[in-house]
Amino acid sequence: MPPVDWDVRIRDQCTCRYCDLCGNGNFDIWLNLTIDHVVPGGGECADNKAVACHVCNSIKRKYHPKGSNLDERIADARRYIREKRESWRQRFEMMMGQIENRN
Ligand SMILES: [Zn+2]
Repeated sequence: MPPVDWDVRIRDQCTCRYCDLCGNGNFDIWLNLTIDHVVPGGGECADNKAVACHVCNSIKRKYHPKGSNLDERIADARRYIREKRESWRQRFEMMMGQIENRN
């Protein structure tokens, strides 16, 4: 892991910037945290990186967040990811209903 990624993990307190999953003090959760490039292709400096869990990172994928600084871009990506998570939740609840109907 590049040294800057350790700095980002410390800055972000080992917590996903998009869903607040907190790996601070919990090794199993910490293992599920990755480093996201906030703007894809936007560089390797700390100002373009954020802690993200695997789920949020895979939802965000190549989304280019809007904003003029890191905090604004993270806030925009957070909205985008939350909308996707909510649509997945609706599918999840439909699926749970289908499973229940089989029992
Ligand atoms: Zn997350």
